[in-house]
Amino acid sequence: MTEQNTDQKVENVIIIGSGPAGYTSAIYTGRANLEPLMFEGYFSGGQLMLTTEVENYPGFPEGVMGPDFMMDLRKQSERFGTRIVTKDVTAVDLTQRPFKVEVENDVYYAHSVIISTGASAKLLGLESEKRLMGHGVSTCATCDGAFFRNKAVAIVGGGDSAMEEANFLTRFASKVYVIHRRDTLRASKIMQDRAMNNPKIEFLWNSAIDEIVGENKVSSIKLRNLQTNEVSDLELDGVFVAIGHTPNTWLFKDVLDMDEVGYLKVDYPSSRTNIPGVFAAGDVHDPIYRQAITAAGAGCRAAIDAERYLEEHGVH
Ligand code: NAP
Repeated sequence: MTEQNTDQKVENVIIIGSGPAGYTSAIYTGRANLEPLMFEGYFSGGQLMLTTEVENYPGFPEGVMGPDFMMDLRKQSERFGTRIVTKDVTAVDLTQRPFKVEVENDVYYAHSVIISTGASAKLLGLESEKRLMGHGVSTCATCDGAFFRNKAVAIVGGGDSAMEEANFLTRFASKVYVIHRRDTLRASKIMQDRAMNNPKIEFLWNSAIDEIVGENKVSSIKLRNLQTNEVSDLELDGVFVAIGHTPNTWLFKDVLDMDEVGYLKVDYPSSRTNIPGVFAAGDVHDPIYRQAITAAGAGCRAAIDAERYLEEHGVH
């Protein structure tokens, strides 16, 4: 790794991305007097900005609205000195020190970087899906399933996530349709069996949603049979999209170690990536748990790791 000289200020830590992981790492590094600089992105706050009520984050007995919660985390980050810039990072150079972070035409330098760019749920790409997101359309059964007590819902997808979420949803919903574009599932055998043996689950094979219908909340879907091309109406109250996630890691391609899908690899249980001084937190490195609370925990770990790294290198 080459050392580069710069006259410009070198930040102790730059945090790329917000959401529970990013804001938590900001709170911790801020309280450690590291004066973190955060690029929270134009779509700040992450996936919780797309949900309504969060009922499973400890400490909120009455629940909390996702966007309100993110605003509070943001304020808490600022309280401890985090400077927040609402822009997307456009390029990074982690192969030289100090690390270089570019935001449009501006260049910043840092001794350490925490990456919390998250993952994005893949969507079907329908206009109605976007319009009704958080109003009956969801990408997270764990987050929103409980709002569909005694209601009929559909889940789209044929992978392990779809099977797991379909089973989970039967705890609340009276009926769960699994809509899959083929007639065989991608999910593992055990997950398939579990879903197929669940009396509340009905599989709609070779099918795709043409449109999600509803003014302010979902009331039905237009379902296309991909073999006959026939379109039918199906009344239901919720649509869960479980067709996979994409980690937001294109900035780090060919530089940081990733798995085959693109999730960052860390030296677990630490948050260290393959480049010393670069840490990862939250959904960007977690294809399994993907919860606000686990992301926040990871943000705390990354902050502590960064603090120790800076101390060891005599930076702070
Ligand atoms: P996945 O395995 O990639 O499955 C995505 C599913 O969505 C596939 O069935 C795919 O259909 C379908 N799909 C993709 N794009 C679509 C579109 N535009 N329209 C309609 N359907 C679409 O994703 P995942 O289920 O989220 O799983 C991700 C990884 O996590 C996997 O490795 C999985 O094993 C793992 N996981 C494990 C567990 C567990 O073991 N408990 C739980 C959850 C996830 P096709 O099949 O036709 O491609």
